[in-house]
Amino acid sequence: MNTLKKNVSKEEIDFYLEDLKSRFPKNRENYYLSYSGGRDSHFLYWFIKEYLKDEQIEIVSVNTYMEHHEILKRMRNNADVILIPEIKPFEIKEKYGSPCFSKIQDEFIERYQKGCRTEFLMKHINGYVFEGKDKKTYKTLFKLNNKARDLLLSGKLHKVSPKCCTHLKKKPLKRYEKETGRHAILGVRSVEGNLRKSQYKSCFSKDGTFHPIYDLTNEMLEAIEHEYKIEVPEIYDHILRTGCMGCPYGSWKHETQKELKLISKQQRNFVCELFKESYQVLGIEIEEGDTNGN
Ligand code: SF4
Repeated sequence: MNTLKKNVSKEEIDFYLEDLKSRFPKNRENYYLSYSGGRDSHFLYWFIKEYLKDEQIEIVSVNTYMEHHEILKRMRNNADVILIPEIKPFEIKEKYGSPCFSKIQDEFIERYQKGCRTEFLMKHINGYVFEGKDKKTYKTLFKLNNKARDLLLSGKLHKVSPKCCTHLKKKPLKRYEKETGRHAILGVRSVEGNLRKSQYKSCFSKDGTFHPIYDLTNEMLEAIEHEYKIEVPEIYDHILRTGCMGCPYGSWKHETQKELKLISKQQRNFVCELFKESYQVLGIEIEEGDTNGN
């Protein structure tokens, strides 16, 4: 048996790819690939172009102004359409606030900073104990982390919001969907976190979004990339996932700090100025001179 990287056989790869092919709908002209240029969406790009040999699915990217150079290059080379957000990163910061802890935590923080004090919200900010069916007491799974809660309640937290993604990524694609009537094909996988695990349990969502690789494992993805020599950008030699350069949401795995070392000084100055308040709270060090162009 031909054994590939990490013990995935050629037979298993072929079986997976044929199964993936069978998941694709017949009316492909009604779909577009949401192409970020990252590893998962590029695998789907390869699959659509090289394996399915499909020309009907449009390849659509959004330039958030904060893509890694290598990733932006892939978008320019491979996308049929590159959308531009209507509002720029500094305008979002000014109008809504900055991303900081995580999308869920920032959602609750934003509501509190806007004046909401409902019992529901305060429970999620402080956490609470409740009695389970077995009569034992449990703590809520979700609450703000202590640092976020203390800064928020003492009024010392800067303006925080998860809307950066909404405006830089989601809205341009929603606009495109409205104009074309096409549904998104997303390269999301449940192994990427608990939220995705609970969000993506089958190939289709109720809104018609198609996510055919929701159950693709890291092992199988690597084996296919290896077998078919699918290009993986160098940035993945250093970090596990790419989003926007220096996004504070990467800080929990120390990816933000690593990214800041990989990008050019000009790029670093831009993101350090954009995210400086969040970096300060998260303890992400900004090198001397990074925010004034020196
Ligand atoms: S990944 Fe981070 S920087 Fe990029 S749009 Fe989302 S919140 Fe903003």
